[in-house]
Amino acid sequence: MRHVAVIGSGPAGYYTAEACQKIFGEEVRVDILDRLPVPYGLIRFGVAPDHQSIKAVSRRYEAVALSDNVRFVGNVCVGRDVTIGELQDLYDAVVLATGAPKDRPLEIPGGNLPGVVGSAEFVGWYNGHPEFAGLEPRLNGPGAVIVGNGNVALDVARILAKTQQEFAGSDIVAHALEQLNRSAIRHITILGRRGPHEIAMTPKELGELGHLERAAPRVDPVDLPEDGADALLEPGMRKSVGHLRDFAANPVAKPVIIEFDFFAMPVAIEGDGKVDRVIVERTVLDDQLRSHGTGERYSVDCSLVVSCIGYSTPPIEGVPYEHGRGRFASDEGRILPGLYCVGWARRGPTGTIGTNRPDGYMIAEKIAEDIGADSGKAGRPGLDALLAERGVEIVTFRDWQKIEQAEVLRAREGAPREKFIAIEEMIRAKG
Ligand code: NAP
Repeated sequence: MRHVAVIGSGPAGYYTAEACQKIFGEEVRVDILDRLPVPYGLIRFGVAPDHQSIKAVSRRYEAVALSDNVRFVGNVCVGRDVTIGELQDLYDAVVLATGAPKDRPLEIPGGNLPGVVGSAEFVGWYNGHPEFAGLEPRLNGPGAVIVGNGNVALDVARILAKTQQEFAGSDIVAHALEQLNRSAIRHITILGRRGPHEIAMTPKELGELGHLERAAPRVDPVDLPEDGADALLEPGMRKSVGHLRDFAANPVAKPVIIEFDFFAMPVAIEGDGKVDRVIVERTVLDDQLRSHGTGERYSVDCSLVVSCIGYSTPPIEGVPYEHGRGRFASDEGRILPGLYCVGWARRGPTGTIGTNRPDGYMIAEKIAEDIGADSGKAGRPGLDALLAERGVEIVTFRDWQKIEQAEVLRAREGAPREKFIAIEEMIRAKG
């Protein structure tokens, strides 16, 4: 028997478990640990609440979780309840699938003023992450600035722009819906330090901005490269830039404006004890497509700044780490003998949910190359004994199903669920 512990129950964790199942069949026991009592990581707390079809992938993970040789072990925090070293003693392979839940800091003067939030915080707030539910973002002024030109910037802009009715069918949490409903934001500026050809936005997500009830995108035609230049882009990018061209050519008047400000780099945030404005510097690109400030500066008034400039994986003591890239140091997923990383914890925060599938399979194959048929390690019973000794209350997948059922029961009309926010509420709901 092989014993595998996967830390983190998001997409990378589940795909790794699925791959271990495929490769080892009945000869493996996989425990998927999560510090929260609820599974799915990024699917529950990262994917936008109005993108339910993407969240549906969790049904596939459910099939894995309900098989005999894989189990979910929720409410167990590695580092607090059990150490990596202890897990390595108990399991043949320990896989870090901890994602990249920390915001990359916006390192400019004023970056810590009240009203500046990172996308992990803001997304966690509207998705009901226990850590960020109390955020109360400053939605009280007409201006909001979003920094970054990736898909997270689009998610944040769309959530800030939507009406209450447009959230029908979503699982946005009640506190966020209430606060957004009272929001005074009417002008959302998305700052990109480079140009339309350098965006990291996918066509479907960008196109959605053209179909909002009370909000419309605005692009300055001057920022767009000449038409023919798009021919050199790969098809997805060409489509994305096509949307920008469409927004520039057909401006629509609606009460909320989502303005794309390209070649625009935030250099400072100012305000009287809180955010009042962002100081922006115009940029030009060099022949390596890197941005450089031109010295021309202007300010954008706002009460809220959401920095969507990427994430990092929190380091774990004793585990080799690449500080510059904010991820574990590994040789294609191998960190140390018996210790692996997968998904964003291995690659950094790039790619779609589906990218984690081949990643999970790759790690499972490496595990298969590295470990023997039976090391005699204690595995599951060993972990259970250790956690029982420490009085840690495990949440199983069956427990989670009860929590989920309770969330479905308390959903507002038309919504798939109303998530519990506090860990104690989740534990109570499992009975
Ligand atoms: P991302 O795609 O890496 O985009 C980050 C953006 O921040 C880039 O435009 C980058 O500009 C900019 N940036 C970085 N540092 C900056 C700085 N100091 N000042 C100004 N701008 C800065 O990251 P993301 O949007 O967080 O998304 C993470 C991953 O999740 C991506 O793979 C994304 O596609 C995926 N995702 C997918 C969906 C979906 O499919 N619906 C939704 C959300 C997220 P430069 O290019 O100039 O560095």
